[in-house]
Amino acid sequence: MICKFTILKSKSLHLENFVPLQPRKEIMRIDIITVLPELLRSPFEASMMKRAIDKGIVEVHFHNLRDYTTNKQKSVDDYPFGGGAGMVMNIQPIDDCISHLKSERNYDEIIYMSPDGETLNQKMANTMSMYENIIILCGHYKGVDQRVRDHFITKEISIGDYVLSGGELGALVLCDALIRLIPGVLSDETSALTDSFQDGLLSGPIYTRPANYKGWKVPEVLTSGNFAKIDRWREDMAYEHTKNRRPDLLDNE
Ligand code: SAH
Repeated sequence: MICKFTILKSKSLHLENFVPLQPRKEIMRIDIITVLPELLRSPFEASMMKRAIDKGIVEVHFHNLRDYTTNKQKSVDDYPFGGGAGMVMNIQPIDDCISHLKSERNYDEIIYMSPDGETLNQKMANTMSMYENIIILCGHYKGVDQRVRDHFITKEISIGDYVLSGGELGALVLCDALIRLIPGVLSDETSALTDSFQDGLLSGPIYTRPANYKGWKVPEVLTSGNFAKIDRWREDMAYEHTKNRRPDLLDNE
């Protein structure tokens, strides 16, 4: 897929911070493999993810792993070899599901949500927002048999240094972060360009009417009508805010 990129002007320009501005030609397809499809539904029925689906920009398919089991009980997990606490997800239904999907189309990534994966960040969301097809595998219990990770998974993503009961909430966070970046999803595409992390800085303070609420006034510059001055003020505030809260983001300057 060919995309044009905008490189954002900022005090700390990171070359990896690209945002696609060209409309996509293809629908993005996301296949989510889960044992709890009911946990996934409602977030796709509201806000930006719903809009992306309604506009035909994104297609999301849930695959219930139990539909791919070959045992009568439809069980998807078993005791760990070597003993120990917790259950491990079997390779067979995951293999069947992924192999079935791969036989129908090519995938840019086959992702496993996992606390020991690469921590999700804006740069990864930017990159993935340009993909055409992805699979997201949600783990449960102690996680999946290592052979799934060795033979099928191309990328492992964590949403932070804490442990969830399952990969579904992580998958939803990932979907939201990347879907909102696809051109046509947000009503004002430039809005995504000014969000925190997009230019390596956090967003500065924002205000709306009334200009004076109970004596708490908005900074005068914002009502001055001098847009060059407003831009400069915003950049300064974003830089100050980043310096105070996340000085690590300024380290590669
Ligand atoms: N035993 C594993 C944790 C399993 S938690 C370990 O100690 O690393 C069960 C499932 O929840 C995982 O397979 C994964 O799919 C999901 N999960 C848990 N924490 C997550 C996180 N921080 N980011 C993404 N997925 C997570």
